[in-house]
Amino acid sequence: MVRKRLTAARYPPRTGIRMQEESLIESYIRDVPDFPKPGIVFKDITPLLQSPEGLKLSIDLLAEVVDPAEYDLVCGIESRGFIFGTALADRLNKGFIPVRKPGKLPWKTESESYELEYGSDKIEIHIDAVRDARRVLMVDDLLATGGTMEAALKLVRKIGGEPVAAAFVIELSFLSGREKLCGLPAHSLISY
Ligand code: AMP
Repeated sequence: MVRKRLTAARYPPRTGIRMQEESLIESYIRDVPDFPKPGIVFKDITPLLQSPEGLKLSIDLLAEVVDPAEYDLVCGIESRGFIFGTALADRLNKGFIPVRKPGKLPWKTESESYELEYGSDKIEIHIDAVRDARRVLMVDDLLATGGTMEAALKLVRKIGGEPVAAAFVIELSFLSGREKLCGLPAHSLISY
């Protein structure tokens, strides 16, 4: 259950408690220098997932950033977006739709190519992923340059969905990724 204190529809103010929660999440993020390429500092979320307290808090907070009445489905981006996206969808009694790497989805797909902080890639979605439930909350573990989420937004729109907001555990704000989201409300639990 979403904790009572933060059931407000909007992102909670940065109170002392909120800052403690951010620090807790940050304490579970491990920096791995030069992975997967020299010069990249990889934000490893596995210590956060490994901690019952950290995992629960991250889902609690993601559940609070957007009023659940504003969306019908949660869309997660392979692969770490699946972890947070499905947990959030289950918590809020929403459906989950996956955006996957090429060749993984068995039915008819739409696809989009995009640039990564460390390379380029392509993602796909099933053409019937949204059906009648059109309003979609987009979820990924991390916002870096924004290319991945930008491509995922295009995919959801291509199949008739309406992204209402994007939620991330981590934002690398120095890479200005939210500029690529063209004004879509974007929320991150912690920002570097
Ligand atoms: P971007 O498209 O540049 O916003 O990159 C976001 C995607 O790449 C997310 O799915 C992240 O999981 C992954 N990613 C990019 N940079 C990092 C990083 N420094 N640490 C961990 N994951 C990253």
